[in-house]
Amino acid sequence: MDISTISVKQVSGVSALKEGELHAFGVFTVQDLLEYYPFRYEDYRLRSLSEVKDGEKVTVQAKIMGLPVLQRYGKKSRLTCKVMADEWMFTATWFNRHFLKDQLTPGREITLTGKWDQRRAQMTVSDSEFPDKGVIRSGSLQPVYSVGGNITQAWMRKTVGQALVQFGEMIPEILPEDLVRKYELMPRKHAILRIHQPQDSEEGQEARKRMVYEELFLFQLKLQAYRAMNHERMDGVQHTADNATVREFVRSLPFELTDAQKKVELEILKDMRSPFCMNRLLQGDVGSGKTVIAAVALYAAVKSGHQGAFMVPTEILAEQHVRSLTKLFEPYGITVGLLTGSVTGRRRKDLLGALQMGLVDVVVGTHALIQEEVYFRSLSLVVTDEQHRFGVNQRSILRRKGFNPDVLTMTATPIPRTLAITAFGDMDVSTLSERPKGRKPISSYWVKHDKMDRVLGFISREIEQGRQAYLICPLIEESEKLDVQNAIDLYVSMSQAFPDFKVGLLHGRMTAAEKEEVMREFYANEVQLLVSTTVVEVGVDVPNATLMIIMDADRFGLSQLHQLRGRVGRGEHASYCVLIADPKSEVGQERMKVMTDTDDGFEVARRDLALRGPGDFFGTKQSGVPEFRIADMVSDFAVLEEAREDAASLVGEEAFWTSPVYSPLRHYLQREQVLQGELID
Ligand code: ADP
Ligand code: MG
Repeated sequence: MDISTISVKQVSGVSALKEGELHAFGVFTVQDLLEYYPFRYEDYRLRSLSEVKDGEKVTVQAKIMGLPVLQRYGKKSRLTCKVMADEWMFTATWFNRHFLKDQLTPGREITLTGKWDQRRAQMTVSDSEFPDKGVIRSGSLQPVYSVGGNITQAWMRKTVGQALVQFGEMIPEILPEDLVRKYELMPRKHAILRIHQPQDSEEGQEARKRMVYEELFLFQLKLQAYRAMNHERMDGVQHTADNATVREFVRSLPFELTDAQKKVELEILKDMRSPFCMNRLLQGDVGSGKTVIAAVALYAAVKSGHQGAFMVPTEILAEQHVRSLTKLFEPYGITVGLLTGSVTGRRRKDLLGALQMGLVDVVVGTHALIQEEVYFRSLSLVVTDEQHRFGVNQRSILRRKGFNPDVLTMTATPIPRTLAITAFGDMDVSTLSERPKGRKPISSYWVKHDKMDRVLGFISREIEQGRQAYLICPLIEESEKLDVQNAIDLYVSMSQAFPDFKVGLLHGRMTAAEKEEVMREFYANEVQLLVSTTVVEVGVDVPNATLMIIMDADRFGLSQLHQLRGRVGRGEHASYCVLIADPKSEVGQERMKVMTDTDDGFEVARRDLALRGPGDFFGTKQSGVPEFRIADMVSDFAVLEEAREDAASLVGEEAFWTSPVYSPLRHYLQREQVLQGELID
């Protein structure tokens, strides 16, 4: 017998009428009812009044000491009675419970739950029961379900309890034993019993942990099994560059890869060598060293006889990458080209020709890179950032040109987009979990505008020691023109304040050539202080810059602030971030606090989420982010990732598709219509 096919009507106490009402909650079978989890618990555990604070809700064991007094006001009533608990004599008060009056006989024991008013020695009772009639709630944590209509909380508790008595023994395990052991999970039967009826909150937590893991694991299993059977992915490029070749390049880098980078590199190379089409997300905090991973992947593509494209959001970044990749690739005879909106005329024509003939191996550029008139000899890898997440459209453009490249998407913001991506499961995820060794944490300070002269002193000291600084101008959303004017004003006043240094200016209205020139000067330390709008936000890498100053910092969002701060702390010198702000709003203040509390991007994202609320992150239901019964996408994110790995590796095992050990899971997939009949034993 299978509780997933037994009607809920078989639970005693569920009449035809009640059954119909349960349908409204999505409860049709016994299994549905058992999986109708409480969303919180009420604490009816017995306590002593001497340990209870004034105004707290408490459950106590008491004895009736006096005769009850009933007052009626129309339909309403108030019932009072003197009782004693421990050494405390007090008045218990019930509202609209006149029918209790006859049961309140002096000397009788009663268990009272209610709000304790110490000063007036009285309790407003919300629940009471008599031990001599059998105790239901008292002494325990009681589940609180989402109920409504004619289904009351008490009825739901009783009915779920009854279902557990009748069918609890029939709850099957669904997770494979090794996973249960790996995470020390409660057996399913036990967990479902305890999620409804925990003996204490630790046990409730344990039960929840088990069901959260199960829910997320089954969800991921569906996605991964679906994907494993999706043969469309089989037509990717099988890269042939061997380990020795790649290692030679890695050894020539100016630093040793971190363990995290090595792990991620292997994941990517494995994908690239497989006949499947890679669709992988690389996430890592700012400064964790994503770009060099991209370089290794591009190198492997070229050494396999193909071409690579690197798509970036800004021209400044494109130029930076061309510079650094050229330096890395030159010794190997790999050529790097630049293609942006400002590469025009003759230069553009030459580049397009060279790409088509395969004379350029790697091309870096903005989004236009893979569009209409661009042709490759053999494009096999596209590296891009999350803002340009490589969609189905781009893929089909390239397919029309005869390419089906591997795709590597990089991101520095783990939440929210990564969350959604992980949830959708259309990408594999690699994570750079550590920053390169020897990095000093970035010290962050929040100062008010009236301390500007001290900030200027700080700038001079850093520059005198040979370092460089950024000064980010406030951003005025309504008007780019005002933005630019602001930047210019600030540039002029900084030039006056620091006659001994060269101050540079960077903003969106400058021509590409002007931008390129000032960035070149900044890279070369010919400019020491760069006044800029947020155009330096993404990716810019000048390791000698150690000071980031952000004007009106409270006007920026947290993830943007964190990105800006990530421009420093990229070399061996101690770095600083100074936030200048007089926030008027509470949110602005909280942002400054988060920034000075932590420089861990995951933590910043978590607190950002808390500030904004998940609705804001996901755009609620429209986002298509799945809703779970018990798991929480935000707080259970780490579990989601574990479950994803477990599901992926299980689906990759031959035994999963054949061994009887996994038949409950295969049956589940069949019920969910991921599998068709032929795969089931
Ligand atoms: P991200 O793109 O993740 O923000 P980058 O790839 O720009 O970070 O790397 C930040 C800086 O750290 C760069 O200057 C890069 O050369 C350097 N870097 C990367 N990996 C390492 C490493 N393993 N050891 C030391 N420095 C590294
Ligand atoms: Mg491949």
